[in-house]
Amino acid sequence: MVESKNSDTVHSPIVTYASMLSLLTLCPPFVILLWYTMTVADGSVFNTFEYLNNNGLQGFLNLWPKPTLLACKIIAVYAAFEAALQLLLPGPTVYGPISPAGNRPVYKANGVAAYLVTLLTYVALWWFGIFNPTIVYDHLGEIYSTLIFGSLIFCIFLYIKGHLAPSSTDSGSSGNIIIDFYWGMELYPRIGKYFDIKVFTNCRFGMMSWAVLALTYCIKQYEENGKVADSMLVNTTLMLVYVTKFFWWEAGYWNTMDIAHDRAGFYICWGCLVWVPSIYTSPGMYLVNHPVNLGTQLALFILVAGILCIYINYDCDRQRQEFRRTNGKGLVWGKAPSKIEASYTTTSGETKRSLLLTSGWWGLARHFHYVPEILAAFFWTVPALFNHFLPYFYVIFLTILLFDRAKRDDDRCRTKYGKYWKLYCDRVPYRIIPGIY
Ligand code: NDP
Repeated sequence: MVESKNSDTVHSPIVTYASMLSLLTLCPPFVILLWYTMTVADGSVFNTFEYLNNNGLQGFLNLWPKPTLLACKIIAVYAAFEAALQLLLPGPTVYGPISPAGNRPVYKANGVAAYLVTLLTYVALWWFGIFNPTIVYDHLGEIYSTLIFGSLIFCIFLYIKGHLAPSSTDSGSSGNIIIDFYWGMELYPRIGKYFDIKVFTNCRFGMMSWAVLALTYCIKQYEENGKVADSMLVNTTLMLVYVTKFFWWEAGYWNTMDIAHDRAGFYICWGCLVWVPSIYTSPGMYLVNHPVNLGTQLALFILVAGILCIYINYDCDRQRQEFRRTNGKGLVWGKAPSKIEASYTTTSGETKRSLLLTSGWWGLARHFHYVPEILAAFFWTVPALFNHFLPYFYVIFLTILLFDRAKRDDDRCRTKYGKYWKLYCDRVPYRIIPGIY
């Protein structure tokens, strides 16, 4: 068992508690209000505000769709399909990074196969008239509502499992029920030996639903209008390129903070099960009823700029991964990399060695890769133009999330690497934006 999670929090206890409680209570209604505004209130925050002002709490309760049997069936079939693909599709064995307790999780890298099978199956179901994706769009409110409650129950299951049947020694309680529920208890919870719960929630359910919903919005606009506006095409293409990149690099994702440092609790699992399908896809949700004609030139410009940002973001992740994989021997931007050889101590007291790259993208700023990530999100949103603020909510949320994440990661690395991290900060002084921050 590892030490208390309280030691992991980077903000003051009062800020930590306030943010945990407000996220626990505000995120679920926010998902419903966003869906309502996008699909019923013409994308206008002002319309929703006026409705709530006139109808009060009862009006809010009335607009919240109840979970339905149909929504349960859609979610259950999708989840079971993804779980089966995760377990059954072949893929090479890959190893995650050494955990704080000194464990090394083993995965089956079959993300690209699962992604292709999912999208081909979904389009084929539509093409052959077996299942029309517009059903998903038409029942989206019920689906989100069901996901909200279902995922809360799932997080309670994670909490109980963490207490009673942890899968590895990378688990532990902070002694505080709210922190345990919110941040989670287990780092690598599994069902049996092979079914990794975080790979399922984060990748195969959450990220996969992003691609599935992007296609759903596109198909809905086509079925509604008999054509797809270029704005929707740019949005869908960029989101699909982004998710394709994600699955292409999925084994790399298993080395990142989400998997290697954040435990399975409300924050990461509820976030991936509900927040990703609803908030991350929201620019596409908006475009369904707001087709914009950009014209070929502007559409192409946005598309190319977005793809370039996604590529740079991918290349940053790839560069770091290759650097570690080759033990600092591969070339970075055509030259031998500059690096810091760091050592650290695991919670079990072992001393380990690690390398920090200080050239290439990682020499520009310590989290430069967040810049193209944010810009890519801007480019798949900007086809909505500027009639309404709400489509931009995701970009703003992502910016806040990543700036906070950069601070959390810096603090964690400072604790882990001590003087070596200080040396890295001296060599690469900017946190995210070179020359500015
Ligand atoms: P990173 O890929 O930035 O990984 C951070 C870890 O990398 C650190 O904890 C440290 O881990 C290691 N590291 C830090 N600096 C160096 C260096 N100079 N050389 C070698 N290793 C280093 O984590 P993220 O999870 O934040 O990002 C992964 C990807 O996911 C990015 O593309 C990001 O944009 C994306 N992302 C997207 C989000 C979204 O909601 N759309 C949210 C978050 C991320 P160690 O302990 O191993 O040294």
